[in-house]
Amino acid sequence: MRVKALIFDFGFTLFSFENPSIEKYFDCFNRGLLKSLDILKQEKIIEEKEIDNFIKIFNRKRNTFFKSSLKTKEEFPTTLLFKSALTALKERGYIIKVENVKEEFIENLAEIYHSCEEEEWKPYKETKSTLESLSKSSDLKIGLISNHPNHKTIKNVLKNNEMKQYFDAIVTSAKFGKRKPNPDIFFHTLKKMGLNKDAAKDCMMVGDEAADAVGAFRAGMQLILKEREYEFPFEREINLPNLIKIKSINEVLNYIK
Ligand SMILES: [Mg+2]
Repeated sequence: MRVKALIFDFGFTLFSFENPSIEKYFDCFNRGLLKSLDILKQEKIIEEKEIDNFIKIFNRKRNTFFKSSLKTKEEFPTTLLFKSALTALKERGYIIKVENVKEEFIENLAEIYHSCEEEEWKPYKETKSTLESLSKSSDLKIGLISNHPNHKTIKNVLKNNEMKQYFDAIVTSAKFGKRKPNPDIFFHTLKKMGLNKDAAKDCMMVGDEAADAVGAFRAGMQLILKEREYEFPFEREINLPNLIKIKSINEVLNYIK
């Protein structure tokens, strides 16, 4: 078959988080939250004495959203998390100046919340040269699908590493609303690249986890599994027919005809 499109996952496929651990993720998000809180105080949206309550509500909602997203495969974007935490605080009678809160401001809060994580993502040493080589195949489309709650964060990482230009479509669950392995996010990405559902059989998904594998299978795409060097907790085993396994991202070049 002639491959019409190659769609990459983001985390641990093209980019890596050095020495990843649950603690490191949480530390990053907590630092980001403190930075967002500084802005909320600075803009006089919440007062110092309400900060602890805000953190409690925010963390509770973050956990609820996270669990629901795993169950429903729907994304709860970080912007929604900030909005609902602020609204909940107001509903409980705290003084919140929500009239000062504009959509753009919430987007900025979400970006700052993820800023520490944004700095941590580094491309694998073969990522850029692989994308560069692929981009030379004029009839090959290159896409990206990430299960991430903030679209801007993914775009920023690609931009900061001078890789955004290689992609015909950059899709996040934050913007689309549904997460991998829901096949709709795969079909949406194909559409953005000018391909229809029938083209799925001629497309390949490159990813590192079950959401990529199962989603690609449901959408009718071939999967290339990028094997990770770290094992993650609660990982599901991937057991699908015709699985291609690679250790380094540049091996995808062997499958493009
Ligand atoms: Mg991944």
